[in-house]
Amino acid sequence: MEYEVVIGMEMHVELNTTSKMFCACPARFFGAEPNTQTCPTCLGMPGALPTLNRRAIEDTVLLGMALNCQINTHTFWERKSYWYPDLPKGYQITQYEYPMCHDGAIDLDVRDLSNGWNDVSYAKRVRIRRAHLEEDTGKLTHAGDVSLVDYNRSGVPLVEIVTEPDIFSAHEAYAYLSAIQDIVRYLGIGTADMEKGALRCEPNLSLRPRGSSAFGTKVEIKNLNSLRAVRDSIAFEIERQTALLNAGGRVRQVTLGWDDARGVTVEQRSKEDAHDYRYFPEPDLPPLDIDAAWLGEIRSRLIELPLDKARRYQSALGLSAYDAAVLTSDPAIAAWFERAAGPSPTPARVKAAANWISTDLFRLMKGGVALADVKVQPEQLGELIDLVDAKTVNISTARSVFEEMFASGQSAGAIVAAKGLGQINDVATLSTVVDGVLAASPSQVAQYRAGQEKLFGYFVGQAMKATQGKGNAQVLNTLLRRALGAASQT
Ligand code: ADP
Ligand code: ZN
Ligand code: MG
Repeated sequence: MEYEVVIGMEMHVELNTTSKMFCACPARFFGAEPNTQTCPTCLGMPGALPTLNRRAIEDTVLLGMALNCQINTHTFWERKSYWYPDLPKGYQITQYEYPMCHDGAIDLDVRDLSNGWNDVSYAKRVRIRRAHLEEDTGKLTHAGDVSLVDYNRSGVPLVEIVTEPDIFSAHEAYAYLSAIQDIVRYLGIGTADMEKGALRCEPNLSLRPRGSSAFGTKVEIKNLNSLRAVRDSIAFEIERQTALLNAGGRVRQVTLGWDDARGVTVEQRSKEDAHDYRYFPEPDLPPLDIDAAWLGEIRSRLIELPLDKARRYQSALGLSAYDAAVLTSDPAIAAWFERAAGPSPTPARVKAAANWISTDLFRLMKGGVALADVKVQPEQLGELIDLVDAKTVNISTARSVFEEMFASGQSAGAIVAAKGLGQINDVATLSTVVDGVLAASPSQVAQYRAGQEKLFGYFVGQAMKATQGKGNAQVLNTLLRRALGAASQT
């Protein structure tokens, strides 16, 4: 029988606010000495009282708006009780009854990347069931027969996003996750680095006979710390469950872990171990009301989202899907690109700006340079593109000029003028060069005229050398062809 996979995604996104959700400790803990960013509140000491982080609330609402959610302007906090050493209070403060955001949807362009990049994609909408704000737990490290706990992460604001079961392949899961990742980064509300645990996801997955609308028994996959692991673990489960079902077996409702090294899922616990969280209203925090003015203030932070931008780059600017994706992966890159291309650019100029950024700029930044620290300004790249267009410099000179611009921040015009790099377009000057080249290579000229046409490149090379690379290649080509051809006719 042929089966189809149904996936609903639960994910957690850490917010990169300055302070934690319910205390003043720093929320950006990465790399800090364990247990140095804690206080009685995030250590769960008896009697320590929580306070609210306004920015975390705003960031959550903003994310909800980006996900086209309804916003609950009246919410309250609840205690979710369970015992685990990474949760010092014995409960987590969260939202249950009234999630801050609910009933939204996210649009995706889904692409099958398994065969490399291709332009075949389809549009897809995934419904968002809810997105609520809660606090992160501490972090456990298991070392032999002891476990170490670091509470620096305890109390970091965390948004949980839950989708409807609308995802029907590993590719769609990948597209969904990277879209959320892009949106979080665009809004500047988190790093969304899966490798650092700033974005974590748990696919809920079941199989059903293709064409059926009923849901099968679901499993939940945990411990995924890369986009690749998400795709691989889903593919693995589809295969495992298909084999199981075809052999007459039944899927059990369990929680699975992903063993990245072995590339297999491992059972962690079964449904019988399900917790009773005993949710009840948090007595130490007042309910939260968001008025219209505050809501408006938050909405004003909503910017053009990555997918909209990528689609606009394709439809209005004529860029390929690939170029559009590369340039919109980071809002700073997109802004840089738009400034380099300039207002109402021609398709050629758009393409030139895209090429310069994705090849030369990215290559020069490879040494770990952040875009904010790049000395060359996008308008300066625009000027360089103008110089190439006007044939003031040829493309190979332009590339070394750009390296120089990257290193010094000087303008293209200044570098070209100071180094005398201007392209030689003057026909009389270049004719003299061509005559000199032919006169200096009588045997090559004879061979060429005897039919060795591939020697043409040799003459071009000699002419370029004679002009220190500044000759206009097109003019030189024409002149060389004319001189070599004309002579053969005499
Ligand atoms: P639970 O109560 O077991 O946590 P929920 O109804 O809260 O289940 O759903 C959790 C997530 O699992 C949601 O993202 C939902 O879309 C997804 N989900 C629910 N049922 C299924 C199913 N049969 N197959 C795949 N995903 C499912
Ligand atoms: Zn604290
Ligand atoms: Mg649930």
